Amino acid sequence: MQENKTQSKNEVWRVVDILNWSKNFLKNKGVESPQIEAEMLLMKVLNFSRIDIYMHHERPLSIQERNEFKYLLLQRTSGIPIQYILGKTEFMSLDFFVSSDVLIPRQDTEVIIENLIEKYKTKDNIKALDLCTGSGCIAISLAHYLPNISMTAIDISEAALKIAKKNCSHNNLSNRINFLQLDILKENISDGSYNLIVSNPPYISKEKYINLAPLVRDHEPKIALYPGEDEYIFYKRLSKIANNKLISKGLLAVEIGGDYQVDIITSIFTSAGLTNIEIIKDYNNICRGIIAKKN
Ligand code: GLN
Repeated sequence: MQENKTQSKNEVWRVVDILNWSKNFLKNKGVESPQIEAEMLLMKVLNFSRIDIYMHHERPLSIQERNEFKYLLLQRTSGIPIQYILGKTEFMSLDFFVSSDVLIPRQDTEVIIENLIEKYKTKDNIKALDLCTGSGCIAISLAHYLPNISMTAIDISEAALKIAKKNCSHNNLSNRINFLQLDILKENISDGSYNLIVSNPPYISKEKYINLAPLVRDHEPKIALYPGEDEYIFYKRLSKIANNKLISKGLLAVEIGGDYQVDIITSIFTSAGLTNIEIIKDYNNICRGIIAKKN
């Protein structure tokens, strides 16, 4: 209140003014969805829902709110993904916390989850493994949409697992998912057999990694994207794990980089004895997932 008194009329910035201004600011800096992102940043500062924003267009911002908003805008134009600034994102219509310790969940991955939900929704007592779980988005959405499934989710990174566990309890699934820290390339997964193994492993080749959009390359964890010299190393290892850990007729479902990886991954899986290869396309009609069956 006091603050407003000391501000001259011209200095009053209302929600509507700040939105118009920042939308153009973000647009000029090359941000792809300036309107939505400006709204989201303002929602964070004011602790508003989207509807609140529209209901309170005339509300003036305090100096402190303006400064906070300016700080977030500058973070965004410095190249930090909006999801890391907000600290959260949505995947399969569920809320997920994210930080730079985990890959931001991608919409592309949802097609694989949806396919698996269809396959398993009428089955009972499903035991599934999620390898390279990251934020936990795959394990958590499977557990949310399939009440008949119990999950073990594994990651090499303690920091990622911390986020995954937070996401798990936030989505009220703590009694359904067991988290383990393990390097799946070097260590074995102790006892247990599974109906399903799912994984979105790192799969970006060295060449592709260097040329990734800076938004991804400079901010998302390299360990989650780049598997090292051999871009197929995880798929080779996953096919072995599938052989050891899947029950007969169990499925291995993986995300892949695109059409260019289909033939090699298919041959890795079939040489390991897996059969019934199914290719899943994403919303851009790109091959995004491969499902294979153990005999
Ligand atoms: N889909 C991610 C990207 O394009 C990569 C995910 C991964 O390597 N598993 O950036």
